[in-house]
Amino acid sequence: MHCDSTLILCDSCGQAVPDQAGKEVLYQVEKVRFRLELCAGCLDAEMKRRDGHRGVPGFRKRAAIIFTIGSQDELPRHGEHLNSTPS
Ligand SMILES: [Zn+2]
Repeated sequence: MHCDSTLILCDSCGQAVPDQAGKEVLYQVEKVRFRLELCAGCLDAEMKRRDGHRGVPGFRKRAAIIFTIGSQDELPRHGEHLNSTPS
C-alpha cells in the first residue's frame, strides 16, 4: 500500500504533524526511559523548561533528545491543554 503522508500525534499537545517533523524525545526516570514524539513547538518549550539535554541515537529517528526527569509525573501529558470534551 502506498501512502504519501504519515502523520504523528504530538504526545504533548495532541496536534497532528508530519512524521518527518516529529521529534523523538526520551525521558529518563531512574532506570527506565519513556519515548515520546513531540512537535517542534513542544520540543522547543521542553528545551527551555528543562535544564539540560543530550542527544542520543533514536529508535525510529536518527537522533533523539533525552531529558532526565525526577519522576513520571513530569512527563508532558497528552491533551494537557485541551478540554476533556470527547469529539
Ligand atoms: Zn506538540
